[in-house]
Amino acid sequence: MKSPACSFLWQNWNMEKKKRMHDILILGGGPSGLSTALHLAKIAPHLTSRILILEKEHYPRLKLCAGGLVVDAEIILERLGLDVREVPHVDADDIRFDFAGKGLTVRVPKRHAIRVIRRDEFDHWLAKKTREAGIEIREGVKVNKIIPDESGVAVETDQGEFRAEIVVGADGSNGITRRCIFPNEPVYTARVLEVITPDYSPANDEIDPGKNINRRDAAFFDFFPVPNNIAGYTWDFPTQVNGTPMRCWGIYDTNLLADQKRPALKEPLAEEMKRHGFELDKYEIKGHPIRWYNPRNNASVPRVLLVGDAVGADPIFGEGISIALGYGALAAREIAESHRRGEFSFAGYKRRLARSGLGQALFARWFITQVIYTFKWKWFQILLWRMLKPIVLLAAWIFVLNWSKRIPQRLSPFTA
Ligand SMILES: Cc1cc2nc3c(=O)[nH]c(=O)nc-3n(C[C@H](O)[C@H](O)[C@H](O)COP(=O)(O)OP(=O)(O)OC[C@H]3O[C@@H](n4cnc5c(N)ncnc54)[C@H](O)[C@@H]3O)c2cc1C
Repeated sequence: MKSPACSFLWQNWNMEKKKRMHDILILGGGPSGLSTALHLAKIAPHLTSRILILEKEHYPRLKLCAGGLVVDAEIILERLGLDVREVPHVDADDIRFDFAGKGLTVRVPKRHAIRVIRRDEFDHWLAKKTREAGIEIREGVKVNKIIPDESGVAVETDQGEFRAEIVVGADGSNGITRRCIFPNEPVYTARVLEVITPDYSPANDEIDPGKNINRRDAAFFDFFPVPNNIAGYTWDFPTQVNGTPMRCWGIYDTNLLADQKRPALKEPLAEEMKRHGFELDKYEIKGHPIRWYNPRNNASVPRVLLVGDAVGADPIFGEGISIALGYGALAAREIAESHRRGEFSFAGYKRRLARSGLGQALFARWFITQVIYTFKWKWFQILLWRMLKPIVLLAAWIFVLNWSKRIPQRLSPFTA
């Protein structure tokens, strides 16, 4: 027979173990993790209280990102009943895709072309909405290792061990989940630098006479670094920091031409900023990789699903916020249906992902990436960005944008 002290310890140990056993553990509280939770709460409300999100930082936390939201991000948020206008933002009326300062302009009738948020504010807001939906988020918990087995998944953190029936790896481009479940898989990552500067002063406010564009109100992408083996572009977005208008500059390189001779990544960025009156060296430069989508990237093992950058962002631009929100919608459906069946192999997740509107858009973007960055010659880039406007816009409209409307909103009738 157990002594009273022993049985007290035993009961406490059991309670502690029970407290740490969860049905669904989401690792990472960025857009993909929060979207997975919000979609689960929407399509399978009975699972809401069984979800726990572990986030290593405390909101509002810094996240290096230019914060450009495309229309698909807004559509997904609207469908969740969320109004992103509650987050401080700047709207750009025009987007310019240039080669060395000249190119094509995109303007969307009756709406902004791109909305720019700051990620500390956006993610904090989304986390608040997730909590309001009844989902628990524990901040300041860093996941160190995950070990799936037949009966569940052990999650080792700096705050002790958790156990879950299902784990969602939403921990971003450098995440630990993918490294634990696919330790030997090839990784396709872009290198990215970002700089925040003051806004254009009225004195150096530039207006493109032909297009009637005020630089302050527009977002710019310039592909001039491609012929020099930087398979990407520089960007210049309007933004705001604590309500003050600023500019966000950066450079993105998919690394597709990494085997060729390339200048240091900051050189083309410095050149572009100088063209517009800014000295790169006066500002703080920050860098972070983006893992991009390749059809070969795997997305699950039994009991563990990956979402967001952990699977892969858009390879053309490194655009990943809308994509992360979209992965969340698909993963939630996958989890809810697995729960109904009581079977957690997630064997068809990658296939269903590939067939979804998101998967098709990602495949198209991956294919376009192979063309526009490996056909790196200056004449091809000039032709593409300056002369083929109708073709480029049509391809973007059909293959790249508007995929969010093709994401199912409900569980399939066979499992409902
Ligand atoms: C410089 C730069 C500019 C960008 N600009 C744009 C843009 O303009 N528009 C756009 O759409 N996309 C942009 N992106 C891409 C975009 O930021 C990502 O695609 C997007 O954040 C992916 O969301 P996610 O939820 O998958 O990952 P993340 O946003 O990275 O979130 C992962 C979360 O997991 C947490 N986490 C990580 N490790 C652990 C751990 N071990 N334990 C617990 N928690 C952990 C992190 O703290 C974080 O909160 C940019 C990226 C970079 C680097």
